[in-house]
Amino acid sequence: MTTQLGNLFILAAPSGAGKSSLIKALLSKAPDVNVNPKQVSVSHTTRAPRPGEVDGEHYHFVSREQFEVLIAQQAFFEYAEVFGNYYGTSRITIENTLHQGIDVFLDIDWQGARQVKALMPDTCSIFILPPSTETLRERLVKRGQDEQSVIDKRMAEAVAEMSHYGEFDYVLVNDEFSETLQELSSIVEAQRLRTAKQQLRHQPLIDSLLSAE
Ligand code: 5GP
Repeated sequence: MTTQLGNLFILAAPSGAGKSSLIKALLSKAPDVNVNPKQVSVSHTTRAPRPGEVDGEHYHFVSREQFEVLIAQQAFFEYAEVFGNYYGTSRITIENTLHQGIDVFLDIDWQGARQVKALMPDTCSIFILPPSTETLRERLVKRGQDEQSVIDKRMAEAVAEMSHYGEFDYVLVNDEFSETLQELSSIVEAQRLRTAKQQLRHQPLIDSLLSAE
């Protein structure tokens, strides 16, 4: 992929770390004219929609057969099987969005993060941890009136996801929501100011500064 103005971010976390709320808050911040617009990538998945989830908004819900056709067509930038279902990010959508100078946030698991880093090493990857095991368990319990066995399974999945935190560029501990949001915003801002992006954005200025006598 060629250099583009939009930045690509990966956000990974175990379920219950508060990732969705952080992404939502980050994207609903008042847009600044000097800052790139932001979008969350809408993934394809073979899992069934949960109550309240809208096709095309939370996910593109497809059958396993449809997903496998898309894999064969190389339609995915990355894809993975997560806890028994396929999840994937559309290649064309990511490329087009980044080309328009829009920052893209990928809410994906560690397997997808690895694939994206291999394809685009300058992608900024962030892992969000809960502040304690108790908080994680509480958040998973609150999420639905599930039986103990379901909660135990979610805890085990959370631990499996968290074991990969070390592969990410940044780690945030989501204790105080507003503080974590601030930290996340700082990372996003810093990424935007990296030399390669600033060169693209300010090429005429740099040219004129360097040609001045
Ligand atoms: P959920 O089913 O709870 O929405 O998501 C389960 C897991 O799949 C989460 O860790 C989420 O980040 C991950 N996930 C969602 N979309 C994608 C995707 O496009 N690719 C990959 N690799 N993981 C995804």
